[in-house]
Amino acid sequence: MPYFGKHSLILLENLHQDGQIIAKQAITVGLDFSIIETARDKETHDYYLKKKLSKVPYEKTKHRIYPDNFCRAFHAIPYPIMWPDKQKSIDKKILALNRIFILAGILFGISTKLRNDGIIRHKLRWGGDWDKDFIFDDQTFFDYIHFELIE
Ligand SMILES: [Zn+2]
Repeated sequence: MPYFGKHSLILLENLHQDGQIIAKQAITVGLDFSIIETARDKETHDYYLKKKLSKVPYEKTKHRIYPDNFCRAFHAIPYPIMWPDKQKSIDKKILALNRIFILAGILFGISTKLRNDGIIRHKLRWGGDWDKDFIFDDQTFFDYIHFELIE
């Protein structure tokens, strides 16, 4: 069974408890994945804004550090990491994207169950489907490794 590496575990410590519970349950399903980002300071976020990797100011990003010292967003990608944009063939691009979509499905299933069982209070929102309608071509900013906790 896959398990988180040290780097993922350290990053998870900065994520709200609900996100930690979701991730730690999800990895037991069997698809190995890494947590590659959680909390961000303002300086890093401003750099992302400049690079157009984010669309919202620091005060609005769920990667910000909240007053309780935890953030509400994380980046997760199947391991070994295959970035869809970096694949040389269409087949490999599709394969890399499929792995990410499966991970999103696992995280959704797990988070819904945990919430229905009263273990967590947040819902999960994915950057591949911001409006949560399971239609993936109705958005302009496709941030497929981004997951966030919403009320
Ligand atoms: Zn993000």
